[in-house]
Amino acid sequence: MNYIAYNATNYKQIEYIKDLPSQVKEEIDIVARVLPFKTNNYVVDYLIDWENYKTDPVYILTFPNKNMLPAEAYSKVEQAVKSGLSEDQIQKLVNGIRLGLNPHPANQLTNIPKLDGVPLPGVQHKYQDIVLFFPTQGQTCHANCTFCFRWPQFVKDLDLQFAMKEIDDMIEYIRRDDRIHEILFTGGDPMIMSPDTIQRFMDRIFEANIPHLSTIRFGSKSLTFWPFTFLPEFSDEAQKMLDMFKSITDNGLHVSFMAHFNHWQEMDNAVVQQAVQNIRDAGVTIRTQSPVLKNINADGKTWAKIWEMQVKLGMIPYYMFVERETGPFEYFGLPLAEVYDIYSEAVRLSSSFAKTVTGPSMSASPGKVQILGIVEDPISGKKYFNLQFARHRDNQKTFKPFLVEYNENASWYDELVTE
Ligand SMILES: *Cc1c(COP(=O)(O)O)cnc(C)c1O
Ligand code: SF4
Repeated sequence: MNYIAYNATNYKQIEYIKDLPSQVKEEIDIVARVLPFKTNNYVVDYLIDWENYKTDPVYILTFPNKNMLPAEAYSKVEQAVKSGLSEDQIQKLVNGIRLGLNPHPANQLTNIPKLDGVPLPGVQHKYQDIVLFFPTQGQTCHANCTFCFRWPQFVKDLDLQFAMKEIDDMIEYIRRDDRIHEILFTGGDPMIMSPDTIQRFMDRIFEANIPHLSTIRFGSKSLTFWPFTFLPEFSDEAQKMLDMFKSITDNGLHVSFMAHFNHWQEMDNAVVQQAVQNIRDAGVTIRTQSPVLKNINADGKTWAKIWEMQVKLGMIPYYMFVERETGPFEYFGLPLAEVYDIYSEAVRLSSSFAKTVTGPSMSASPGKVQILGIVEDPISGKKYFNLQFARHRDNQKTFKPFLVEYNENASWYDELVTE
């Protein structure tokens, strides 16, 4: 079989999509004007059950549908397209709708550090021990999650010269701060970069030989969207990618691959399982994370099965997130109380090694807020959420449980606490 990544412009070549009812195709086209749509034939051929596509978790994860947009926004775009407005006019309308979807939640843009007074635009330093690096070439993705909030930062122009300066500045920044132990490569998806590019980044890090650096982390959804990245039988590039991982451990650093899996169906075939094995064989620890998403994974049994499969495949369940208030939040979001129920049911259904999960956790602007429980004062009968910062930008505030008034309908931290 020949594997070709299809993108938003030619996805209609995929057989299954050709066969979808015209009404569904029309809805995809309209919603895709607002929420970027991109998929590929691995996702389509291996992951989606087309007999039941309407409720299929991977279909919902990757294919836009009408309910993901506010009804009013949907009909505006529909009208604009049908009445033959110019592309410019449609684009203007779409940009307005996108802004209304809160594309930059939790002040992502505020943690940019400076080197000698000059901001490092591809870098974030929020927690003292870890620096996030957004390499320019990694600011896109193999396919698209319909809940993605990162697409506003996706870029198209790749400039290697610029990228090497980016990494050199970041390395210098890290060298000067011995509290930093870790670099997290993120995106988009950094695994979309060629292994040569990543290897060049790594070689610069090895040359710098920073004694306080211990870990390189990659956050990626490539195991779901394009596991061939790690199968040498399909490309020489894959072998280079695995060698790149190995070079990191050979240089005495820990490598953690944060695999984003939203449903067990993404791990349920031989291609992804071989990819997992190959990555582990290269000395990498795979940890996993996902938000709880209504219409995809919103029940304890599904999560228990996700964790059980990950443990069996040698991966470490790491984070359960609360869906952010961005993009199609109405479609995917849930009240915190329900998310906590799902988490606790999942843990009860799971065996020992699914208990390594930190969750449910909200990435809010002061830090990552974990819901530890819902407790009732035995005297007054009043209910509270027991929260703690698993991460706080002010390290002194980390890991100190506190109570806030229970609110059945709250779905984000700012509805519980005024910052
Ligand atoms: C989540 C996050 C990290 C990593 O946190 P861990 O607790 O180490 O997983 C680092 N920086 C930012 C800005 C984050 O949001
Ligand atoms: S894998 Fe990550 S970056 Fe890519 S579409 Fe999904 S959420 Fe966005």
